[in-house]
Order: sequence, then structure tokens, then C-alpha cells
Amino acid sequence: MKLCVVGTGYVGLVAGTCFAESGNDVICVDIDEAKVEMLQKGGVPIYEPGLEELIRRNLAERRLWFTSDLVAAVRASEICFIAVGTPETEDGSADLRGVLRVAEEIGAAMNGYRVVVCKSTVPVGTADKVREIIAAGTKHPFDVVSNPEFLKEGAAVNDFMKPDRVVIGTRSQNALALMQDLYAPFVRTGNPLIVMDERSSELTKYAANSFLATKVSFMNEVANLCERVGADIDLVRKGMGTDARIGTQFLFAGIGYGGSCFPKDVAALLNTSKSFDHDLHILEAVEAVNARRAIALWGLAFKPNTDDIREAPSLPIIQALLKEGATVRAHDPAAMEETKKRVGNSIRYFENNYDTLKAADALAVLTEWNVFRRPDFDRMKSLMIHPVVFDGRNIYDPRTMAEKGFVYYGIGRGGSGGKREGSEELRGKS
Ligand code: NAD
Repeated sequence: MKLCVVGTGYVGLVAGTCFAESGNDVICVDIDEAKVEMLQKGGVPIYEPGLEELIRRNLAERRLWFTSDLVAAVRASEICFIAVGTPETEDGSADLRGVLRVAEEIGAAMNGYRVVVCKSTVPVGTADKVREIIAAGTKHPFDVVSNPEFLKEGAAVNDFMKPDRVVIGTRSQNALALMQDLYAPFVRTGNPLIVMDERSSELTKYAANSFLATKVSFMNEVANLCERVGADIDLVRKGMGTDARIGTQFLFAGIGYGGSCFPKDVAALLNTSKSFDHDLHILEAVEAVNARRAIALWGLAFKPNTDDIREAPSLPIIQALLKEGATVRAHDPAAMEETKKRVGNSIRYFENNYDTLKAADALAVLTEWNVFRRPDFDRMKSLMIHPVVFDGRNIYDPRTMAEKGFVYYGIGRGGSGGKREGSEELRGKS
């Protein structure tokens, strides 16, 4: 079969490569020309076990191509996948601008019947919007399919090649037959291909991620109770998880769920339910419990007055916090765009530094921007769950912080106080 996959992130690149590996001709499209150039040469911008080898092999065997020319890719394909990002917006809803723009471009490029498949995680009703947009741009027949992706970063190739299930949401028998053909090699070991309507398929993805997030928050609440009552959460976990109805996965207590999917998908499902005047009480609690394990970062740039984040301490700190499962809420007056290029939407960005503190467990000051030097400490304290400040630049006076009721950690001050105004001179001026 001839396919194109628009968006070569974790999902698009893995899906496109695995479809090529199963014998299809696949054109992967991205607007990021540097990424396309790298991929054309066999370079891989992300690390996923087994992926590089598969890309090299399928490039060499001329089943896999990379391009930024969407029009040519759509014209050469029977099935077009949309796999661009759907990050969280300020109100928690999913940002659909990328998906809808690609739908418009596909509609304008079509020169015959196409199946357009939404693989991005999108709220209920998006397939209808995609259909309307494509219909406005073409006279050719087409079908829209919802086909959410369940792969996990770190095991993406294996998850895609051997999925627990494939969900196909469509009302078209023709599109269904093509999708069944396409996925036949991936479900031949007996794992199900589940067919449903588009709305159920769109909701399945959010419900699945929200349920996993619920397990994490539930275990974190039980862990808090363990501390109070003198029980051991690890033993409780083992005792619970051996019940087949419960299962052993996603039962680890920690500092909460994070990463590029759970926080945004929980927020998006809550937003969808609100827009239908419906309350999801359990999920609200899940988000609130998780927010208690949020860390705010003030400053991302390596020094003030720049958007440069090369070798900035913020990057390893972000990686370490995400690895531990923290939700990271960051603000920097200039470096948020640059940081986004490096860590994507795995952390949340805020235009205002106080907004990062809402329900945060702790604040770490990583860059000594002037705007952070004289904050409203009372406001800070009222927003935070725990008034804990890690002052990585020694810009606050430990005595003032103690008086204001903060648990304060500076660098090399031994709790004796004394204030240093800045540390640019220690880090050069470049
Ligand atoms: P990503 O941010 O890693 O990649 C998105 C890619 O799309 C980028 O390379 C970007 O340059 C490209 N892009 C953006 N707009 C474009 C356009 N107009 N034309 C062409 N290319 C464009 O995203 P991701 O992690 O692969 O996620 C994609 C979708 O899949 C999201 O909806 C996400 O929620 C969902 N998802 C992600 C995972 C995961 O583990 N990452 C798992 C399941 C589902």
C-alpha cells in the first residue's frame, strides 16, 4: 500500500517506519526541514530502541522516504495519516491547529479518493471537523478514520509492532477494509483490531490514558496514607498487584505522573467534559492529587537577558524531574521557545511566573532574571501547596525567607544568611 504520514515525531516516525517495515511504501512528511534532511541521511532525532536500524534498512530498500513536500506525498498515497502534535493550551484543551492545518493541506492536495487517518490524540468530534475542512477544499471523495496510538516512549517500536490492540473508528466499509489490510501484519498473533465509531475511538484514547493516570494518583494517595499509619507502600503494592483484576503495572507511588501525554490528556478530557456540561469528579481529583507533585521552575536560560539554553542547568534538571515523574511548570521571560525546541511539551510553560506556582510542591529558581528578585512572597506562599524554595542563584535572603515561612535552600550558605546579588561573573558572558 502507498501511505503518507504527516508529522515525524515519536508517533509519526515510528508508525511510518513500522508500516514500511511491513512492506508498504511510506512517505513521511514534516515541516521541520532540518529534521527531514537529517532523516533522509539516516539520522534519527529521537532515541527509540530498534528504530534507527529499521529506518536505515527501509530507506536503503526504498520503502521509506522523508520530505517536506506534503502535496507530492498526498498525491502519491492512498492513505494519509495525520500525526502532528496536539499540545495543551492555557485552558487545558488540546491545541488542534496543527491537525486542522494538515487536514486543510491534504484536502487541497488530493487528486482522487483518499483515506485520511487521524493518529494524533484528539478530542471527541475532531474527525467531524477534519471531514468538514477537507470537504471544503476538494471535490474528490474521501473517508476520515480515527486510529489513536497507544505506543509508549522507550518501547515505541515494540509497542507498534506488537500492539495490545488496534482501535479503528470509522463509518466507512471501504476505509475499514483498507485499514484492516494495513494492520493485518500487526495483529496476526491474535491481538484484537477493535472497530467502532469515530467518537468512541477518539474517547478511548483519552479514557485509557486518564485511567492510567488515575492508578498513579490513587497509589500516591495510598502512599501518603501509608506514611501516616506506618505501613509500607511497596508491600501494599505487591499485595494488591498480584490480584489479576488489578494488575502490577502503574501501581508505583512516586512524585506523580508527567511526560508529554498524561498531563495534557487528563486536562483535555476534563476540558471536553466541561464543554459538554458534564463533571468528571474522579478525574478532577486525579489531577489535583498529581498537581501536588508539581515543581515550578523560574528561569530556563543559562543566564539572564538571553534566550540561550545551551548547556543550561535547566535542561538536566528538567530531565531528572521528568524521569522521577514530576510535573514541571516553567516560566522564563525569553527562553521558553528555545526550551520547547529541546524538550517539547514534556513540561508546561506559563507566561506569568506566579502561574507556575499554582498547586506546586516546590519552586526552583534557575536563572537570576531581575523580575524574580523582588517577588511578592506572600502571594507565592498562598499559591504553593508547600512553600519550599530551591534558590539555585542565591538571589533571596535566607532570613527573609525564613520569616516569610518558606523552607529555603540556597547554595553554599549553610543557613547562615548573607546575600549575593548575582553570579554572572562565575559563568562568563557568552
Ligand atoms: P511530536 O511533537 O514529537 O512530533 C510532531 C511532529 O509534527 C514534529 O516533528 C513537527 O515538526 C511536525 N509537525 C507539526 N506541524 C506540522 C505540519 N503542519 N506539517 C507537517 N509536520 C508538522 O509529537 P508526538 O509525540 O509524535 O505526538 C503526536 C501525537 O500523537 C500527539 O497528538 C500525541 O498526543 C499523540 N501520542 C503521542 C505519544 C507519545 O508517546 N509521544 C503516544 C501516543 C499518542
